[in-house]
Amino acid sequence: MKNEELKGIIDWYDFQKRYGFILTNEKKYFFHQDDLDSIEYKPKKNDEVIFFPIKTKKGLRAKRVKFVKQFINDNNTLKQFINDNNTYCRACKKKMTPRLVTYKGSPDKSFCPHCGKIHMTFFNFQKTIEITVIIIFFSLVLLYFFNK
Ligand SMILES: [Zn+2]
Repeated sequence: MKNEELKGIIDWYDFQKRYGFILTNEKKYFFHQDDLDSIEYKPKKNDEVIFFPIKTKKGLRAKRVKFVKQFINDNNTLKQFINDNNTYCRACKKKMTPRLVTYKGSPDKSFCPHCGKIHMTFFNFQKTIEITVIIIFFSLVLLYFFNK
């Protein structure tokens, strides 16, 4: 088994017991506070992280857990993200973990780290509202000039 970095999401973390679990598309990885890459990082449920998976006698463990950025607070997006993890790129056909791009804290789209092609676009409520407002605004401006 090659020791490649994996992407996952914090399932839970107990600050008193100083351990928790990371979820990837199908597996759970144990991690201890000592496995965190930075002492400043305080794991929160649904945080996106990258880590090095190892096998121990007790099971799967995550090492060098690094916080990526984001906090996904909606269940559907989270499911979609987990299913989306470790898939094949439609453009270059390579196995890949899509990189996520967020817009104001919500997932916006994911792209292939090999070829950079967009893999998936998420529905983003805030962005949709903003675009709608812009369209209405320009329609009103146009209407105003046509009626002059
Ligand atoms: Zn690709």
